[in-house]
Amino acid sequence: MTDIAPPTAAGSVMPIPGPSDPMVVPRKTPQRADGLIELVGLDRPAIAAALEAIGLPAKTARMRSSQLWHWIYHRGATDFAAMANIAKDHRALFARHFAVGRPEIVTAQASSDGTRKWLLRFADGEEAECVFIPDATRGTLCVSSQVGCTLNCRFCHTGTMKLVRNLTPGEIIGQVMLARDALGEWPGATPAPITRPVVNDAADDDEDDDVWVPGAHNPGNNYTPEGRMLTNIVMMGMGEPLYNFENVKAALQIVMDGEGLGLSKRRITLSTSGVVPMMARAGAEIGVNLAVSLHAVSKEIRDEIVPLNRKYGIEQLLQACADYPGINNARRITFEYVMLAGKNDSDEDAHELVRLIRKYRLPAKVNLIPFNPWPGSFYECSSDERIRAFSDIIFRAGISAPVRRPRGRDIMAACGQLKSASEKISRADLDKRAAEKELSWTL
Ligand code: SAH
Ligand code: SF4
Repeated sequence: MTDIAPPTAAGSVMPIPGPSDPMVVPRKTPQRADGLIELVGLDRPAIAAALEAIGLPAKTARMRSSQLWHWIYHRGATDFAAMANIAKDHRALFARHFAVGRPEIVTAQASSDGTRKWLLRFADGEEAECVFIPDATRGTLCVSSQVGCTLNCRFCHTGTMKLVRNLTPGEIIGQVMLARDALGEWPGATPAPITRPVVNDAADDDEDDDVWVPGAHNPGNNYTPEGRMLTNIVMMGMGEPLYNFENVKAALQIVMDGEGLGLSKRRITLSTSGVVPMMARAGAEIGVNLAVSLHAVSKEIRDEIVPLNRKYGIEQLLQACADYPGINNARRITFEYVMLAGKNDSDEDAHELVRLIRKYRLPAKVNLIPFNPWPGSFYECSSDERIRAFSDIIFRAGISAPVRRPRGRDIMAACGQLKSASEKISRADLDKRAAEKELSWTL
């Protein structure tokens, strides 16, 4: 069987197996309503197989697949007619069988701070969000890995979504390609003017700790020598990437391919809430930077706010971090820590965090995330003074602990605010939904 066989379950929304079985979901080619086969998301052998399936001899298929690869992933072409080095009759043949698409944009919003958010709809009507965050020296795309999330961290909007499915490699990489379209970043395209912040980071070596000057406009698209605005990718959108391991891996391999989108693994960060059994594989097989959503230092509090902790506890998680392939002082693990007033933000919590990082000898930095509220959320963000005091304790222990500035809050694009459909749901229903999800994966 090849990768291009039409999926039998396309269009259906299925429950994703829980943490007891972080199941690998087989790769599928998304089914388009027009019956064409979508090439975005396929790797070289899969493109070659698709070409053979429409009658090209193996050798020609291999040659044409390299050309298609270049046009699709390196040049951003969506029209076969533009693929100048491919014979005309083959271009026409490809157009009859294949498509090079993009997710449909349902809404595109821009924040006053330059952040952009797209709500995307996929072939089966399911939706996910994707956010671009321009900064002083880089532009970061926050990519979703699932529609919704099977985990239900108590402070996260995505976790309240009822229906969940894994995104396919094409749907994951489609977010990156769509952002490149919007930013006018393909070779030969006219770069789109973009509002981005001016920063004052003179005495600051941490890239996350920039001072944002609202309203500043700077149209110079020159983050990289090639003039790229989209320089970094974080798998921190909707969903738990390690519960969609195979598809995330396939998509990131295309993103990292030098003849594809060509982004270095050092510029890609995968964030996990702590799916311990998949962490070593992520390091060995994908090799990107790791961020871990720690958020609490005691079993009691982490069990409550990141319920996956009941399955994989803090000590187990930190041991998996210590074992993560390729970490060293130049390539540290980032611990994400959401600041929740009165919950996880005391001086004692900060000291305990330092003790744990030292105990496991982790090359680490801590990213303090002020809690971003969402409709119906029931936590409050710690005060600025509390966050500063917490950060100071960690800094004094020699560990970097910048405070992540909320970006795009006015368009609900900040960490943990993503959710594709605005359902009206009561607190009681939220609790019920959380209990159902937990039951499904603690069994
Ligand atoms: N599922 C993955 C990646 C997506 S979430 C994970 O949990 O790591 C990206 C980050 O935003 C995580 O650290 C998450 O815990 C954090 N987050 C979720 N809800 C938030 C909120 N309301 N305010 C601030 N950060 C939040
Ligand atoms: Fe899922 Fe991450 Fe949100 Fe937790 S914080 S519910 S793992 S998306």
